[in-house]
Amino acid sequence: MTYDNENIFAKILRSELPKSKVFEDAEILAFHDISPQAPTHILVIPKGEYISFDDFTTNASDEVVGRFFSRVGKIAQDIGIAENGYRIIANTGNDGCQEVPHFHIHICAGKKLGRMLAD
Ligand code: 5GP
Repeated sequence: MTYDNENIFAKILRSELPKSKVFEDAEILAFHDISPQAPTHILVIPKGEYISFDDFTTNASDEVVGRFFSRVGKIAQDIGIAENGYRIIANTGNDGCQEVPHFHIHICAGKKLGRMLAD
């Protein structure tokens, strides 16, 4: 599978689509999900062209992967959800019901999130 440059998050990265930005640096972008599933629902994406969690952890360096997840944790602290808690999700591939083929982490928080998986 090759990376699709026309996926929604690629367009957001190129500023061809609007976003509500939470954080940005040279390697990552965090922004609010357009259809929030919790009071806080943020997406964190690498700027590199990785299709999925599997692609990212296989093909990005350990340093890039490590910095990415460090920043996810730092964002959660900075927006004030770490104390009450939150959930991170990486839907991956077909069975994981991944819709957008650019690797992303969901950060959901702001209420008791309930069961981990719905039927
Ligand atoms: P996935 O199902 O691939 O893990 O999650 C994709 C997420 O992207 C969904 O939660 C969906 O609401 C969000 N999304 C889809 N299109 C847009 C968009 O144009 N802008 C933003 N901010 N989020 C989007």
